[in-house]
Amino acid sequence: MKQNKKLTKIESIVYNKTMENVLTESTVSKKTIESNVYFQNINEEFMKKALVMAKVALEKGEVPVGCVIIHDNIVIADGYNDVNRTKNATRHAEIIALEKARFYFLQAGKNLNSMSECVLYVTTEPCIMCAAALRISGLKKVFYGCTNQRFGGCGSRLDVSSIKTEAKSKSNLSQCELQMSSNLECISGCLSQESINLLKLFYTFENPSAPQPKCKTGRKAPNQND
Ligand SMILES: [Zn+2]
Repeated sequence: MKQNKKLTKIESIVYNKTMENVLTESTVSKKTIESNVYFQNINEEFMKKALVMAKVALEKGEVPVGCVIIHDNIVIADGYNDVNRTKNATRHAEIIALEKARFYFLQAGKNLNSMSECVLYVTTEPCIMCAAALRISGLKKVFYGCTNQRFGGCGSRLDVSSIKTEAKSKSNLSQCELQMSSNLECISGCLSQESINLLKLFYTFENPSAPQPKCKTGRKAPNQND
C-alpha cells in the first residue's frame, strides 16, 4: 500500500489492523526467541547468586554447592547442599531447587512442561544423580562452574546429559524415557575459580560427616567435588 495514497475509511481500518498484527507478531516472536533456553547466553549475575547459596552451605558445614533455576529471566528457585544436616545423601542443591521450581509452577497453576523453559546455574558440575534428575524433569540447559571429576554427570564421570535411551520408537517410551530422549545441554566454566575456592575452603576444614579415610593422612584439598 503506497503511503501517499489517500485511504478510504475502510482501507484505513484494514491498514491499521494489518500494521497492528505485524507489530504484535514481531513482538511475540522476539519474546519467544529471548525466552527460548537455546538462545539464552550465560549470565554471571545468576552464577553469583548460585555462589551465594554455596557460601550458605559452607557456613552450615555442607559441601559448598549452590544453584538457582531461572525462568523468564528471573530466579524462581534456589538450593544448596543439605546432606549433612538431614543425613540424607540425596539432598543435593539441584534436587532441592527442582522441588522448589516444581512447587512454583504448580502454585502458579502452570503445567510442569514449563520446566523445559528453565535454565539452571550451579557452582559445580551436577553429579550423576542430579544430572539424571534435571534431564528427567525436562530442563534443557545447565551452566556450571567447576567440573566434578569424582561424580560429574555432564561428562566428567558419565555423560548422563546426553545418554541415549534404548527404546526404538517414541510411542514405546515411558514418560521418564521420553524426557530422557531430549538432551540436557551442559556448559562449564562460569566463575569456576570462585567455586573451586569455596570447595578448597571446605576441604581445608574437612567434611565432618565424611567417612574416615582408612590409610590416608594429610588429605589435600581437591580442585572440585560435589
Ligand atoms: Zn548431585
